[in-house]
Amino acid sequence: MLSKSLATVNPCSMCMPMGSVLVFRGIENCMTLFHGSQGCSTYMRLYLAHHFREPVDIASSALSEKGAVYGGAANLKQGLRNVIKGYNPKAIGIATTCLAETIGDDVPQIVREFQAEEPLAKDVTFISVSTPSYAASHEVGYRVALKNLVQTLARKPEPGGGRTSGLTNNGRIDGRINILVGSIVSPADVRYLKRLLDDWGLGYILLPDISETFDAPLSEDMPRIPLGGTPLDDIRDSANSKATVTIGGLVQEPGAGDFLKKEFEIPHTPLPLPIGLEYCDRLVACLEELTGEAMPEGYERERGRLLDTMVDAHKIVADARTAVFGDTETVLGLTRLMTELGMRPQIIATGAINPAFAEAAAKLAPDSRIMTGADYSEIAEEVSTRGIDLMVGPFTGRQTAKKEKVPLLRVGLPNHDRFGASHQLMLGYEGTMHLVDRLANALIESKEGGPA
Ligand code: SF4
Repeated sequence: MLSKSLATVNPCSMCMPMGSVLVFRGIENCMTLFHGSQGCSTYMRLYLAHHFREPVDIASSALSEKGAVYGGAANLKQGLRNVIKGYNPKAIGIATTCLAETIGDDVPQIVREFQAEEPLAKDVTFISVSTPSYAASHEVGYRVALKNLVQTLARKPEPGGGRTSGLTNNGRIDGRINILVGSIVSPADVRYLKRLLDDWGLGYILLPDISETFDAPLSEDMPRIPLGGTPLDDIRDSANSKATVTIGGLVQEPGAGDFLKKEFEIPHTPLPLPIGLEYCDRLVACLEELTGEAMPEGYERERGRLLDTMVDAHKIVADARTAVFGDTETVLGLTRLMTELGMRPQIIATGAINPAFAEAAAKLAPDSRIMTGADYSEIAEEVSTRGIDLMVGPFTGRQTAKKEKVPLLRVGLPNHDRFGASHQLMLGYEGTMHLVDRLANALIESKEGGPA
């Protein structure tokens, strides 16, 4: 059910441009610039730095009253100049914030002017995305940034131009598979996906790749832009892949995969995040079908260990009444896992306004209270009346958890008050196994009066 509240008190979502940063940061040598007020950049830099425990640079065009009245073109051009001089990026992702959207700046046009006027812009790729926070949440910001990125870059090769990509581990030039990470996950999750695909011997283009850029090793000479990310050439080449799979695209509106299908006739399969046995099996079945190759033996054993863990944990977690909240795809994956474990999700909530989510959640847990566009004040009301044993979601639910004396298992973004968000693995058989352990332990600790 969509929130009926007339005022937002404590939204269960974040600003729209924040989602775009997660995409731009997953591109090799790419810097993000917000066109809007300085405070937006400062707030989101801090927010992400606290979650990932990494420095996060986000430039700003720093619009002031003058820009608001006369337009922000001069500020944006100066900001782009400064970013190129200071960071020497190969790409700049430009996301708007509320002020730039309200005054109606035409960012693509300003960027075209900048490219025509400024020699420094010659070797830089610009990806602009419209992200008015009053219109949608960080999840939509993530989706539209990913789509715009592919729209800007993906190209068929020029006739006679040739290409060397698509080389699989077997040495065949065969067209790779685009693996789009359609929903916000952790660097550990992306590392897991890459390991799985490498062990399988598949040729793939994974986008966006935050495995290193949001979780970099300690180094003496820290580069201005973190190393790693999907190479721009790979993104260009995504137009030549033989298939696209969006992982975490179950209930999203058309995105990058749909664009590649429409524009380049690349078959597209949107899948849920592989959390829980069924959703993991769906990913494996899809890859087996696309490649004709069976999943490597080691992962079969991993699946068996997950089953064993589920059986072991069942006596602890079965019948536990839960409230699950956060990003749509993560919440659906968690809910599916809970139903597989015999748990009883009572509240399934997201801050995003997404009717497809409500439909999917109702199928998974028909007796639960489903909330979209949710506010924590509304979630708290439901928690207080439904005898909840465990809350599962971002740390922003902690005030509700404390007030209602319900333990909170922190899963997803943001997580500011516990360490290890970057290393939190929830995808695949292995990640699901860790989740089962954590669910069981949270309930045991709660029964023993331990930490919530
Ligand atoms: S709501 Fe708009 S103005 Fe406020 S921080 Fe978010 S993007 Fe910036």
